Amino acid sequence: MLFDSHAHVDGPEFDADRAEVLDRARAAGVKRMVVIGAVGDPSSAERSVALAEKDRDIWATIATHPHDVGKMTDDWWAVHERLAPHPRVVAIGETGLDYYYDHSPRETQKVAFARFLELAHRVKKPVVCHIRDAHDDARAILKEGRAGEIGCVIHCFTGTPDDAKAYAELGYYVSFSGIVTYKTAQPLRDAVPLVPRDRLLIETDCPYLAPIPKRGQRNEPGFIVHTAEVVATCAGMSFEELASQTMENTCRVFRITAP
Ligand SMILES: [Zn+2]
Ligand SMILES: [Zn+2]
Repeated sequence: MLFDSHAHVDGPEFDADRAEVLDRARAAGVKRMVVIGAVGDPSSAERSVALAEKDRDIWATIATHPHDVGKMTDDWWAVHERLAPHPRVVAIGETGLDYYYDHSPRETQKVAFARFLELAHRVKKPVVCHIRDAHDDARAILKEGRAGEIGCVIHCFTGTPDDAKAYAELGYYVSFSGIVTYKTAQPLRDAVPLVPRDRLLIETDCPYLAPIPKRGQRNEPGFIVHTAEVVATCAGMSFEELASQTMENTCRVFRITAP
């Protein structure tokens, strides 16, 4: 039984065949998933919560992605503040800093990140963080925002082994996506054993970043099996051990009852 800790199945990429995608996930052993309602405007948050209300194996997060915070209005904030306490919303995110794409001004990203951290404290829920090429600034904001007290996931980790170690020392969870299966990603595979087993998560981040051998296709939660195989090998665990450990970890950080 696997838990996809980060999937964007609310998105338009899945409008034509969402039910089939979810059926295929279950058939592949992916029994649970967290849908990230944070892409573009807050209709993503609304759609994710609606999916989580309909399906007892799906939970939602809400926020505005760092790519899109430059467009955020007071109305967007109002939606997030309304949805944050919703019982099917298990975290605030994805929020964070992306200095690789710089789609929003860095200062705007930092202010929004700190504000989402405050919202997470207010509703006593963990944060899911998207950090790319910005790990030093992110750690400063996360420490200042006392993220360790509410729980913190560094999703789709792409930092160095030292970054992984630094997050682990702060007690944060580190989540690996399909990137870990790519040939050029040896530093990521080296980072896996540096994350304590009880802080390890896996995710698809679908529809993006399909793992090998599905690379280039639209990613979907069922494909997480391939990522799990590689992470298990790097962590020195069997597939079954990795599956049950990451299931336990994901339930713990999102305060979901274990199956
Ligand atoms: Zn992300
Ligand atoms: Zn994402």
